[in-house]
Amino acid sequence: MQIHHRQGRLSVAEGDITRFDGDAIVNAANRSLLGGGGVDGAIHRAAGPQLLEACRELRRTIWPDGLPVGQVALTPGFRLPAEYVVHTVGPVYAESEEPRGQLAACYRNALALAADQGFTRLAFPAISTGVYGYPSAEAARVVADVMRERLPQLPALEVTLMFFSAADAETFVQAAS
Ligand code: ADP
Repeated sequence: MQIHHRQGRLSVAEGDITRFDGDAIVNAANRSLLGGGGVDGAIHRAAGPQLLEACRELRRTIWPDGLPVGQVALTPGFRLPAEYVVHTVGPVYAESEEPRGQLAACYRNALALAADQGFTRLAFPAISTGVYGYPSAEAARVVADVMRERLPQLPALEVTLMFFSAADAETFVQAAS
């Protein structure tokens, strides 16, 4: 993990989120919670099969119809260095009537869950900016606004925004400044 930028308790880093060693990582899951491609696939591979079992349990219990866009669900991290995974579902940009509000909800709800759990170190991937098609610079502004709004109220939390490439990390820093 390489830190590109740090401001207060917010870091912008480049790297593989499955290697993040903190209280929790956020997963850009899909509604089924049963795994997918991109960062979701990488997290399931690194966490091992128990993660899928835990997600199936969520489907059997709290979320029989799947996890709605913007909501969050918690599982252990199993073989990951991170202790927990906060699953959330970002909007599909082209299909959403309110992508901004839905993307902001993912970040706000994950932050709130992390604070409730007493987590101090949390990492996010760039939710919705892969297969779900959210333009990176536009997503960056949403994320920066949520962090500016919420981090002052969550003084115990250190947040890392983990981008898969240097270019994505730089796009964030440029768009958010
Ligand atoms: P979505 O379906 O929400 O768009 P994707 O997994 O397709 O989710 O992509 C979200 C972002 O995660 C993309 O910017 C992608 O480059 C990035 N990504 C993919 N794998 C990893 C990883 N192992 N660590 C961090 N970011 C990742």
